[in-house]
Amino acid sequence: MEYQEERRQVLAAARKISGAGLVTGTWGNVSARCGEKDLMIVTPSGVSYDTLRMEDMVLVDGSGQVLEGRLKPSSEVSLHMGIYKNRPDVKAIIHTHSLYAAAFAVAGKSLPVILEETAQVIGHEVPVADYALCGTDSLAANAVKALRKDKQAVLLANHGLVTLGSSMAEALKKAQVIEKTSQVFIYAQILGGAKIISQEDTARLKEKFKNYGQ
Ligand code: 13P
Ligand code: ZN
Repeated sequence: MEYQEERRQVLAAARKISGAGLVTGTWGNVSARCGEKDLMIVTPSGVSYDTLRMEDMVLVDGSGQVLEGRLKPSSEVSLHMGIYKNRPDVKAIIHTHSLYAAAFAVAGKSLPVILEETAQVIGHEVPVADYALCGTDSLAANAVKALRKDKQAVLLANHGLVTLGSSMAEALKKAQVIEKTSQVFIYAQILGGAKIISQEDTARLKEKFKNYGQ
């Protein structure tokens, strides 16, 4: 099997989004770009996260054809591949149906920068792409359009969330931060209104975060 490391990363991330409660049932999917090419390893469609194994991962080319794998690839292949083709900076993509982010996607409201983590990790308001049916090329096109100007994440109307990363760890962190931000926003509204961090401070926090950690 080719691309062992990508398979390992996709499987590990799939288990993490399941363990963190960011998906329900078998919905949601994960992919990793293979090298510099329009090739990706993606999770299979509709398979329980509990039973997923390395050999279940599917290798797909730029036209959506399966190159290696026994199982059908995710029904969101065109969404993942559309993003890789338009964003050379992206190496990993995570699509969740997490609860609070889905509330924003259903309300058609973009998610403002309200927490320092949101500023540091995302650095911009998370837009909502125009509605299109799941699994379609239109959904991919709408998501790619909303992700212009180097956006790191997009909400899919009435559906869920997509996060991008220069690594799998980055895409995962964004999915977790956006879910927390969505939840906190809703609570803050109940408490009298969320205060939004200014664009200027958002930019400062993002810059400062580059040196975060050891
Ligand atoms: P899968 O086909 O990857 O299971 O996808 C379900 C889904 O999230 C559709 O948007
Ligand atoms: Zn979905």
